[in-house]
Amino acid sequence: MEENKILADLIFPNITKTVEDYENMYPKRDLPEGARVTRYAPSPTGFIHIGALLSSFTANMIAHQSGGVYYLRIEDTDTERTVENGVNVIIEGLKEFGVEFDEGPNTDGTQTGNYGPYVQSERKEIYHAFIKHLIIEGKAYPCFCTKEENDKVREHQTENKKRIGYYGKYAKCRNISTSEAIEKIKNGEQYIIRIKSPGCFDRKIVVEDLIKGKVEMPENDIDIPIMKKDGLPTYHFAHLVDDHLMRTTHITRGDEWLPSLPVHIQLFQMFGFKPLKYAHLSPISKNDNGGIRKISKRKDPEAAMSYYHQEGIPSYAVMLYLATLMNSNFEEWYNQNKEKPYTDFKFDFKKMSKSCPLFDGDKLNNISKIYFSLLKAEKIYNDACVYFEKYDKEFYNIFTKNKEYSVNLLNIEREVKKPRKDIASYKDIKKEFSYMYDELFNDVSYDWQKITNIDDIKEILDAYINVYDENDEKDAWFNKCKEVCDKLGYASDMKAYKENPDAYKGNVADLTTVIRVALTGRSQTPDLYELLKLLGKENIINRFNKVA
Ligand code: GLU
Repeated sequence: MEENKILADLIFPNITKTVEDYENMYPKRDLPEGARVTRYAPSPTGFIHIGALLSSFTANMIAHQSGGVYYLRIEDTDTERTVENGVNVIIEGLKEFGVEFDEGPNTDGTQTGNYGPYVQSERKEIYHAFIKHLIIEGKAYPCFCTKEENDKVREHQTENKKRIGYYGKYAKCRNISTSEAIEKIKNGEQYIIRIKSPGCFDRKIVVEDLIKGKVEMPENDIDIPIMKKDGLPTYHFAHLVDDHLMRTTHITRGDEWLPSLPVHIQLFQMFGFKPLKYAHLSPISKNDNGGIRKISKRKDPEAAMSYYHQEGIPSYAVMLYLATLMNSNFEEWYNQNKEKPYTDFKFDFKKMSKSCPLFDGDKLNNISKIYFSLLKAEKIYNDACVYFEKYDKEFYNIFTKNKEYSVNLLNIEREVKKPRKDIASYKDIKKEFSYMYDELFNDVSYDWQKITNIDDIKEILDAYINVYDENDEKDAWFNKCKEVCDKLGYASDMKAYKENPDAYKGNVADLTTVIRVALTGRSQTPDLYELLKLLGKENIINRFNKVA
């Protein structure tokens, strides 16, 4: 014990605080019974994966629906993955999707909360106090094995079909005496720190995961590294120290961490700390040529949150979609509560998918269409402006030239068809309505339908413009279309047409189609009467004249 203390002091000469000191500095949180404390613990890579958004959204809901705390902790111990401004990208990026933190780093460089610092690279001293404690207790030791030595052991294990890892007879430095270790350190030899695992691979642990249910795994018997050569802790050890001291109650994280659970449980036991509750989320996956695979940052643009911004899918619609992936009963709830914010939905771990939720772009589009259908035209206009200003400046200038015109245009489908089903993204606004802007109504390729003879078309347009009156109500307007039909030999009465089609050049629907196509180039548009009103007589004449 005395020698362990000498070793610990040699490694950490300046660490004077103890584990107990830190326990007192960060006491149990004063929260109501049942309140959950969760966190989002990303590496600041400057990238938000859709799976990470789902995980942070889930943790946010669990904490806030229980009256608890949701905080952000930046895991920047892997210096290679850290990018400049990565923290702000995370904070701002998640905020856009409605995920906000009660504690943690802020974009101005300050930090909020009494359980910080919330950036791991600023917590080195705390980790060292915990590691020092283990060394004094004889539960951790310095390991001097080089990378080459470790590679050799790994090769040997692979060749002999042994489990890979630093355990049992392979844990060479475990048997070095403390005095020898002291000597080596004094001689300037490089080392890392490993735990002396008390586990036995033949014994099983059983854990109740909140999503996966009962999971049975062998105990950990590997002397895992807890401190790297650079003095920073490994993920496993930082998880122990941070989540214990920050008084986290529930861990939601990707299920790639499930195999590490025996290590984590063991670490908590080594300190006698209360174990945490775990919820391991399955990765969002997609169908790929009949097979199912994880959505990947490399292969799938929809893995990155920036993709949804670029595509102009509103963040709120993305969250609605994620909520359907989060809880299987969300959709049913939403269909009955469309006007309510999704945060009113009572989230439940039990309704989370044990297997991989499948990403479905069509479903996302449909949800987004429903979302747009509930919005007032003015709101769509304002949000669309923000989008176009950033992603399509040219259209932004066209779209905003006459606000009233654009708002009225967005209103047509909303007023006539309830609910509208034409827009799933801001991009769709341009796609659907570009022809309503003269600047974009060039080189039109007219999608004529039944009536294609240019003389017949011109005859219709001429006759029509003579009777068109902007002040007509819809019924009067349609009656005038019928009058033109009668005059030119088209059937104004569909029944009569069906009975004797050969007696006519076409019918009233064919005639209005000619007008529609002449004005827009397209055979499918929102309500023609409304479009005519919006374009105004002068523009109608201009557009008719464009038809060759
Ligand atoms: N930094 C880890 C990651 O990005 C966090 C995992 C966890 O939430 O514990 O995967």
